[in-house]
Amino acid sequence: MTALTPAVRDRILSLPSTELPSYIYDLTALGEHAASVRAALPERVELYYAAKANPEPAILAALGSYVDGYEVSSGGELTHVAKAMPGHPLAFGGPGKTSAEITAALKQGVERFHVESVHELHMLGDLAGRITPDTPVAVLPRFNLAVPDGSLAGSSLTMGGRPTPFGLDPCQADTVIRLLTDDTYPQLEPRGIHAHLASGLEAPEQLAVAASVVTWAEELAGRHGIRLAEVNIGGGMNVDYTRPTRRFDWVAYGAGLARLADRHPGLTLRIEPGRALTAYCGWYTTEVLDIKHSHGEEFAVVHGGTHHLRTPATKGHDQPCSVLPVQHWPHPWPRPRARHDRITLTGQLCTPKDVLARDIPAAGLRAGDRVAFSLAGAYAWNISHHDFLMHPQPGFHFMNTGPAPEAERNVS
Ligand SMILES: *Cc1c(COP(=O)(O)O)cnc(C)c1O
Repeated sequence: MTALTPAVRDRILSLPSTELPSYIYDLTALGEHAASVRAALPERVELYYAAKANPEPAILAALGSYVDGYEVSSGGELTHVAKAMPGHPLAFGGPGKTSAEITAALKQGVERFHVESVHELHMLGDLAGRITPDTPVAVLPRFNLAVPDGSLAGSSLTMGGRPTPFGLDPCQADTVIRLLTDDTYPQLEPRGIHAHLASGLEAPEQLAVAASVVTWAEELAGRHGIRLAEVNIGGGMNVDYTRPTRRFDWVAYGAGLARLADRHPGLTLRIEPGRALTAYCGWYTTEVLDIKHSHGEEFAVVHGGTHHLRTPATKGHDQPCSVLPVQHWPHPWPRPRARHDRITLTGQLCTPKDVLARDIPAAGLRAGDRVAFSLAGAYAWNISHHDFLMHPQPGFHFMNTGPAPEAERNVS
């Protein structure tokens, strides 16, 4: 169970039943969180937001004064973020970029290309020569590096350090740097190295990975006698769904990055978190439709389900939640009610996979009570299969509960 803020709790209880299920986002809390992340990072570390975690325009805007730019991973995100946040720098990543997407990105003037393969590098160089021949294009090849033993062990989603379709194999590094430095594609400028290897790492593991990526990048640059100005060490800061009030240790992480930056003067470090920025600002809120007793267990069927909040199905976890009891029961017949201490919360879909939280303590839960699922601000609505069973879409409410905090940079 999670502590709801009074403002969010009031908002949930003020919604008429006809407006449930709904997503509620606290934009003020998001701004405060982003301000504290920015303040924990050294001045020299650039913070980009990985838009795929939650690309709602109001979310992108609430982050606007705390981030240096946005990482986009498709042509769709590129168009969407450029329209929502005009004038903000964009970095374009993601595997399998098409020539149409690269063309759009060149015309848009994205400030970094994270290149995922040798073929993609040729395509980018060729298109840049034809579309923007007078404009240098800053390239960061993304590498799937081997990292210190065990540093990815805690990860929930591993994109690197093992065979995956993400990034370039380290054995291609010399080929890639040669292509970027000989005169094949004069527009392409080798700006640095990109490595997003895993999601769900805590600060010490993130720092170990970052240090090894930087060391590898400097060795590569040294071998080719070039200077790499930048290393992008990706996102993947952990969000702990089992302990929803806990936060990634941004202060320890920022201090570690400051030490790393001090060992490499002149190198710009960039990070691009998604989940750990926006997960906490969103709630999926709904009401219990029915309570069922089945072969000795109990199920609460809530309005909506994993077609709106797919996160627990994809991550195989229980989405943390709070129950908001509602006294009113409008019907003359008995109110369905839980008799056991533990109950499984399911949605309205005709599949046993539609489980939001399994066997959670919710003694006395009744039809008509409200439930707020927290940590639903990232990889939630936008990764869900909305059209399955053709239920209506939820409502969306963006709350502003106070003034936005000043962006503060930790000058160290
Ligand atoms: C998804 C992704 C991120 C963000 O990951 P989080 O786990 O949400 O922080 C950053 N960089 C790349 C390349 C990604 O694919």
